[in-house]
Amino acid sequence: MSKPEKLIVDGKRLDGRGPFDMRPIKFTAGVLKRADGSCYLEFGGNKVMAAVYGPREVHPRHMQNASRAIVRYRYNMASFSVEERKRPGPDRRSIEISKVSREALEGVVMEELYPRSAIDVFVEILQADAGSRVAGINAASVALADAGIPMKCLVSAVAVGKIDGEVVLDLNKDEDNYGSADLPIAMNQFGEITLCQMDGHLTEEEFGRALDMAVDGCKKIHELQKQALIEKYGQDITPDVAQPIEGGETNE
Ligand code: UDP
Repeated sequence: MSKPEKLIVDGKRLDGRGPFDMRPIKFTAGVLKRADGSCYLEFGGNKVMAAVYGPREVHPRHMQNASRAIVRYRYNMASFSVEERKRPGPDRRSIEISKVSREALEGVVMEELYPRSAIDVFVEILQADAGSRVAGINAASVALADAGIPMKCLVSAVAVGKIDGEVVLDLNKDEDNYGSADLPIAMNQFGEITLCQMDGHLTEEEFGRALDMAVDGCKKIHELQKQALIEKYGQDITPDVAQPIEGGETNE
């Protein structure tokens, strides 16, 4: 789409959403037979598959950590996932996204329980529509829980941005292309932020509002993640049900 004159018309975004609305989200847990845990997620136009293997032996062995498990995360965008065919294989962008996504999740995984082992997370973007890194983190978090990996809680993520001078939740591709800021954020259910990146500019006041919107969006996503696990297991297996997070509260 060429640059539209306006991205917000009469208070509505071009896809009909208000500033606080997210795109439709659908999680399905446990879709891959050969993975220890998996999740398929549709988040607006993003279609994402996450697969988790482990805890398993680390190869190469020199990467082993004697006191805890290592978490490895690979974000990969399929060639056919974007409008202009993406060259297959890792590039600077996917290496960066893999690193920040791993950091967004590793704090909630109880790595100390599995010394010398690896927990491998693979995220495949089958269709991208802006916000694919946050979609990947959301799916990976459910896939980790589906694999039975002990976690302090789930991680939820959403991007906030600025278009036509307004702060809005969950940018789509056109908004990402023609907007003036994009702020992917991940947090656990206690509101502790585990990822915060920013492209573009926001004032301090706008940043505060963006953060509030992200908290609200992540709460809704957390609920959907929990529901996906209940659908698969017939009961609430979300790791945050009874597990206290250090210095935090439980929701028992
Ligand atoms: N994109 C693309 N080709 C690429 C990388 C990205 O078309 O090689 C698109 C894709 O739709 C992606 C969007 O640009 O979702 C925004 O990319 P960004 O780097 O901001 O990451 P994301 O918002 O997906 O986390």
